[in-house]
Amino acid sequence: MSEFNGKKRQRRSWAEPYKIKVVEPLKMATRAQREKAIAAAGFNTFLLKSEDVYIDLLTDSGTSAMSDRQWAGMMKGDEAYAGSDNFYQLEKTIRKYYGYKHVMPTHQGRGAENILSQITIKQGDYVPGNMYFTTTRLHQELAGGTFVDVIADEGHIPQSENPFKGNVDIAKLQQLIDEVGAEKIPYFCLHTTVNMAGGQPVSMANIRDTTAVCREHGIKIYLDATRAVENAYFIKMREAGYAKKSIAEILLEICSYTDGCTMSGKKDCMVNIGGFLALNDDALAEKARNMVVVYEGLHTYGGMAGRDMEAMAIGIEESVSYDHMRARIGQVVYLGEQLIEAGVPIVQPIGGHGVFVDAARFLPHIPQSQFPAQSLAAALYINSGVRAMERGAVSAGRDPATGENRQPKLELVRLTLPRRVYTQAHMDVTAEAIIDLWEKRDSICGLKFTFEPEYLRFFQSQFTPTCGASVLNDGENEGETYSDCESDILPEQHADAHD
Ligand SMILES: *Cc1c(COP(=O)(O)O)cnc(C)c1O
Repeated sequence: MSEFNGKKRQRRSWAEPYKIKVVEPLKMATRAQREKAIAAAGFNTFLLKSEDVYIDLLTDSGTSAMSDRQWAGMMKGDEAYAGSDNFYQLEKTIRKYYGYKHVMPTHQGRGAENILSQITIKQGDYVPGNMYFTTTRLHQELAGGTFVDVIADEGHIPQSENPFKGNVDIAKLQQLIDEVGAEKIPYFCLHTTVNMAGGQPVSMANIRDTTAVCREHGIKIYLDATRAVENAYFIKMREAGYAKKSIAEILLEICSYTDGCTMSGKKDCMVNIGGFLALNDDALAEKARNMVVVYEGLHTYGGMAGRDMEAMAIGIEESVSYDHMRARIGQVVYLGEQLIEAGVPIVQPIGGHGVFVDAARFLPHIPQSQFPAQSLAAALYINSGVRAMERGAVSAGRDPATGENRQPKLELVRLTLPRRVYTQAHMDVTAEAIIDLWEKRDSICGLKFTFEPEYLRFFQSQFTPTCGASVLNDGENEGETYSDCESDILPEQHADAHD
């Protein structure tokens, strides 16, 4: 049962709250083509060509569909080098919805993370947070800090049904403060919703408690606001006292407990590129603005085109709409519930931006050292043309001190839903593909590295199967599959168009 549909899941009980004005045709490669494509990509879905992908659930980052209002806003781009009108529009919008005083655009979220890390972290510092995020932790480490995970234990347990699995474990935070001293902790890094835990929200009560501990010890608290609007929706639906508040009111309250934020505009804000750093402290903002000039661009554009700042401002307004958020998260729930019904192990409760398949339980015959989630993502692509991504041992990388592979408790495949892009029918096809794979899971084998880059290895690493030529040895490698039949239609149409 989900909060989304009330009593029980009813198929087609809701419809997407938009209609389609522009279409982008999809193409489905044959099984043989997909086998070739994934092998050429070193069994890493990040290295596939987009044209070889049927339904792309790699990420919701920068992949959302913009509204007609956002596209109209693009025409109002003021591409002045300094003082673009779109910057002031964006600044006003961020102040209104996020409530911070100083706003600096950046080319995307990691640009803001770099600057915040550089101006706050000293060599030997510790940065606690409710689970790591890949780019965030790397920038903290590059600045000389050590990330310390203080998420509640349940955040690491895929089966736990806790409605706020993103919550901070206050005792763990207190313990760190006692151990290393508050002066070694430049800030607390608060994630809403927690991406790496499966898109799990943090409760307002927990944010309040976390902030109280930080304030007591003079520790700043910065928000990774990338998915804070989705978190606000979960608070409205799940936390006592918030049902009647608007998403916008809840978002402002979340931000009010923090000293600033880093933001990837490519997620909640529904733009293809962009981000920002926002801070309340005048002196720190002055430092940050100076760094923006070094790494991003002048502080009134920070690596963004004027038109993109305009689209982001409009996207922020649209993101706090209840209808939008209900449909966005409802679509994730719709996909997740089909998998639960079929017995496929996924992280529960279903998260905000995607369905996270528990590869450890899906493929218990593959040890973590052979990257079960990476193998599952590759097998899913081979089986159906659906592209997902690994969130497990490959993403976790190596411990910079020991050089050993980290062994995260969560070994997940993320099916991430771009906003306003796919329909319920696409979710049905995706669910069918995963259920089909679940039924023949014994035919999936593990992977080993053939190439491993130093930083953020999940993006560019390459692998080879531990058994034979493919990760999926279901006897269909040569034969026809249902997807091959369907794709017959397209090449012909394509040929016609060029006749
Ligand atoms: C995407 C993301 C980032 C990084 O943002 P980019 O725009 O990709 O640089 C940081 N934190 C979280 C939680 C994210 O999801």
